[in-house]
Amino acid sequence: MVHGQPHNGGGHLARVCTVKRDARLAISLLALVFASLLTATAWEIWSARQRTLHDVDTANGNLVQALNTYAEGVITQSAMLLLDIAERLQSDGAGAGQLQRVRVLVNQQQNLLSQLDALVVTDAQGRWLMSSRGPVPDGAQSSDRQFFLQHRDNPSSDIFIGPPIRSRSTGQWVLTISRRYMDSEGRFAGVAVVNLGIENFLRLFGKIDIGEQGAISLVTAGGQLLVRHPFREQDLGRDFSSSPNFLRHYAGATEGRAAFRSGIDGLQRIYAFRRSERYPIVTSVAQGQQEVLHQWHRQTQVIVAVVLAVMAVMAIIGWRLTAAMRQRTRAEQSLVQAREELIEANRRLETLAAQDPLTGLANRRRFDEVLQQEVLRAARDGSALSLLLIDLDYFKRYNDSYGHVQGDACLQAVGHVLQQMARRPGDLAARYGGEEMALILPGTTLEGALSQARRLLDDVQGLGAEHRASPFGQVTASVGAAVLDPATGTDAATQLVQAADRALYRAKEAGRNCVKS
Ligand code: GH3
Ligand code: MG
Ligand code: MG
Repeated sequence: MVHGQPHNGGGHLARVCTVKRDARLAISLLALVFASLLTATAWEIWSARQRTLHDVDTANGNLVQALNTYAEGVITQSAMLLLDIAERLQSDGAGAGQLQRVRVLVNQQQNLLSQLDALVVTDAQGRWLMSSRGPVPDGAQSSDRQFFLQHRDNPSSDIFIGPPIRSRSTGQWVLTISRRYMDSEGRFAGVAVVNLGIENFLRLFGKIDIGEQGAISLVTAGGQLLVRHPFREQDLGRDFSSSPNFLRHYAGATEGRAAFRSGIDGLQRIYAFRRSERYPIVTSVAQGQQEVLHQWHRQTQVIVAVVLAVMAVMAIIGWRLTAAMRQRTRAEQSLVQAREELIEANRRLETLAAQDPLTGLANRRRFDEVLQQEVLRAARDGSALSLLLIDLDYFKRYNDSYGHVQGDACLQAVGHVLQQMARRPGDLAARYGGEEMALILPGTTLEGALSQARRLLDDVQGLGAEHRASPFGQVTASVGAAVLDPATGTDAATQLVQAADRALYRAKEAGRNCVKS
């Protein structure tokens, strides 16, 4: 026989809950791992970008420092040459012999100053007096050039760095470094000007690796472009003095870094610049931001792809894991349900197995079981135990008169009356067999049992069921009562039943519808 064990079902429910909690925990854990992974990746990508930009800044800064020194050197060399020449012309005059000596001096300098394209000396009207490249062409003059106007109208004897111009002697693009000189009376006598070939600067700039999108330029402090690599003729002399980028990043600063979109070609670049401490020029070096970050972009793509792949794999594993957990939960839930149904079915079965189907009273098997138990209990506790045996009077005749179906209904009605008598927890009303019934009354003395029996007879009569074949005219019963004798041994139950049976026999003999004990 399977006995119901409700605690087991509870255990399974607890397990199901645990599995559900585990699944939730696994999902939260996975989410946490994802969040950390994404944070770490984002941090790594961001710091790699910062490192790259920092490295570019450092390289640009070093380069701009070197190029500034180079430009300063070239200008200083030119300035010294101009100073030398101006002093000679001032002290010795600008006669033919003197100019010849100057030309010799310049040609000697040519070795030291490779950027030197030409050196020209003009008179106070801008007419050429001498050119280092050879005989002065007829009518050659520079009276319209900015450097000439600057020195004629300005008494300063400082050098002037002019915007790029196309040389009248060679047709090349040149930068001009110039200085005025005076006659013996201190009046403006003309200008000595050094032409520096832009090509020479470009050759040097071109050798420096700053990538395809890089740019190197020399700008005057006032914002005029002197040289720029990569070279475009239309850029020369361009005036940045009012450009927002120039004003924001270069004007007034001595050095710095900046990233902005070039006004020349629209490319986003990372710039480093330095203003010369000696001359009004600014050198700048720039690298294309896209180019600089290209490698970083590639790395980022690889990292993101790998991280996403890892996350996808983890998500799939996690999903399968929780799916398996859910599956198990469902399986366990249906198992628990099946178990509970089985327990319930067993309980019903047990009841059925112990019940008389016609009257609903306990059956004979159950009666024997309970009587045995109660006998043992009474012996153990020393308590009283009474038994009533009930037999319907003239029932054979009843069947004969009314038929078995009516007889069954009568048995049910009397069974119901008997069931009402079993009021205490230990009481048991049973169908003993045929039309005989029994009532086990634990903790009840013979007196108590007799009074119960009388009440039962009253109640049966109270049913008012007609029995025309009985001398009583209605359904009655006879009862035999017995009480347990504690002295009897192991078969006390049998003896109790026999005693009650004997009493019942006597009740029948005494005319029925009565109680004997
Ligand atoms: P008395 O007990 O008064 O001496 O007479 P009686 O006619 O009742 O005699 P007895 O107890 O020997 O008769 C038993 C009868 O009960 C026999 C049978 O017809 C009837 N009986 C037994 N079991 C059932 C049952 O399940 N249904 C029906 N309808 N009748 C039953
Ligand atoms: Mg009988
Ligand atoms: Mg009978």
